[in-house]
Amino acid sequence: MLKGKVSIVTGSTSGIGLAIAHALAKEGSDIVINGFGKPEDIEKERKELEDSYGVKCIYHGADLTKIEEIEDLVNTVKDTFGGVDILVNNAGVQHVAPIDEFPVEKWNLIIGLNLNAAFHMIRLCLPLMKERGWGRIINTASAHALVASPFKSAYVAAKHGIAGMTKVVALEAAQKNITCNAICPGYVWTPLVEGQVADTAKARGITEEEVKRDVLLAAQPTKEFVTTEQIGALAVFLCSDGAQNITGVSLPIDGGWTAQ
Ligand code: NAD
Repeated sequence: MLKGKVSIVTGSTSGIGLAIAHALAKEGSDIVINGFGKPEDIEKERKELEDSYGVKCIYHGADLTKIEEIEDLVNTVKDTFGGVDILVNNAGVQHVAPIDEFPVEKWNLIIGLNLNAAFHMIRLCLPLMKERGWGRIINTASAHALVASPFKSAYVAAKHGIAGMTKVVALEAAQKNITCNAICPGYVWTPLVEGQVADTAKARGITEEEVKRDVLLAAQPTKEFVTTEQIGALAVFLCSDGAQNITGVSLPIDGGWTAQ
């Protein structure tokens, strides 16, 4: 379905971004991966994407909190592929603390990566999509783009900001065959979350199953994690012709969390 398209997926060296990269590559799109990690692990992932799906895949290690590195990423994609069709703004970090104790540098990092980086990527990629007369922008937001939780002021502010920017971009690009949407996952089973389960179980003196059900999934009515593959499938749908008139939407994929 996406043969001949070029996709950039930020923060795609692990978790949700990596799954979205696989889902888009499986549909035939060439892929640009980005994010941090061990060079040998990243090269393994890059090669696996190429070998599994017969697409071209390049890696760019831009730190997306730095504007000049974002510019270099987009210029590299332009030089390598001649343009871009699909942009997935996925890179993100989290920090949890009460607002009156929230470290200023953590606030700046979260707003810088989870919100500002998406602005810069869109600002630089939209003209390339307009040139091609087609485009898809997908922002990995969160259920926290729609509802709040205590102690997550920067994350909730950034994700609500992304939801607003998504609407604006959708309106500005509406007549250019370009859509812009936000995917809003609840708890997703990523290595990051997985790593917390054993520690939390130990700290609270409860089983790992109880941690999942009573701590992590307390907000999620299905009591099941969303999987990265399900998010990849949603991203692919948003890139399909069937989704041409879905734009400006913040779409929950959260097991009913935000229905409550
Ligand atoms: P993850 O930690 O597995 O992946 C984050 C990715 O971002 C990694 O590839 C990392 O290297 C990259 N990254 C971090 N800092 C970067 C920087 N400065 N520049 C470039 N890349 C950077 O996390 P994940 O769970 O896959 O989260 C991905 C996105 O999904 C985030 O935006 C997150 O807010 C969102 N999300 C996650 C969940 C969840 O439960 N896991 C739920 C809702 C939303």
